[in-house]
Amino acid sequence: MAQELNFKQELTGCFGQPVAENPTQAMVEAAYRHHGLDWRYLTIEVAPDDLADAVRGARAMGFAGFNCTIPHKVAVIEHLDGLGESASLMGAVNCVVRRGGQLIGENTDGKGFVESLRTLTDPQGKSVVIFGAGGAARAISVEVALAGATRITIVNRSIDRGTELVELLRDKVHVAADFVSWAGNYSVPEGTDVVINATSIGLFPDVDARVALDVDTLKAGMVVADVIPNPPKTQLVRDATERGCKVIDGLGMLVNQGVIGIRYWTGVDPDPAVMRNALEEVFGE
Ligand code: NDP
Repeated sequence: MAQELNFKQELTGCFGQPVAENPTQAMVEAAYRHHGLDWRYLTIEVAPDDLADAVRGARAMGFAGFNCTIPHKVAVIEHLDGLGESASLMGAVNCVVRRGGQLIGENTDGKGFVESLRTLTDPQGKSVVIFGAGGAARAISVEVALAGATRITIVNRSIDRGTELVELLRDKVHVAADFVSWAGNYSVPEGTDVVINATSIGLFPDVDARVALDVDTLKAGMVVADVIPNPPKTQLVRDATERGCKVIDGLGMLVNQGVIGIRYWTGVDPDPAVMRNALEEVFGE
């Protein structure tokens, strides 16, 4: 059966997620159908001990690539043949692409975010505040810096994680970066262009959770982004919209990392609107 699929169709896989109702699968396959691509995106759960065999299997079956999620984003690296620039800087891979017989690890989370951001503003020369210092914040901050942001402020609860990210940004990406220990409501400094929630605050089911922030310091015209895809209309998205900010919700980043993955795997530039509609159906928006 696997061989039959291998000969008839190109395959991409998504490692490490539960098999039922996977939003990424719904989104990617909607794009494949829309563009008449005879491809499949499979959701396959892989236990950590089976990762090496799973990657070997993907090679053997001629997968065009795959996404990987927690807990495989770092562990997958030793099984690959090389890394793209930002994946190498971050030390994390969420998208693997077969190029000339080699499996290359990329990180499309931050690139997807920057594609969303570019629809509202050019990151070049911007001053950016990011809440969080986990995987999403690392991906976004590195990519925003590579896109030319001139100052990045990391606001995080855990001091160790926050300072580690700031050191990475200063030492490896060579951008001006500061750490702020997050205590009480954070006031966004004057002159900030972009504010990003890259924490898990507001993710379903804790939908009423608020990012600790003085919302009066969000000014009209600022770009405010939230990475939370479910629900897309987080409290931060609502607060920022009310204050006249330009807002990016978590679906924007999710759609755009998918756009980049499909482009890498198939060479086709998929329609983001089709992909967003598929996600909205899954999330009941
Ligand atoms: P991590 O676990 O790596 O990091 C979580 C971050 O959130 C840490 O900085 C953590 O702070 C902070 N945090 C969590 N709860 C609180 C709280 N109550 N108060 C203050 N800070 C808090 O997760 P990821 O970075 O991988 O993911 C973060 C979010 O990004 C998830 O909700 C995920 O759904 C979303 N995401 C969205 C994507 C998209 O395409 N839209 C892509 C990838 C992720 P501390 O260090 O102090 O623990």
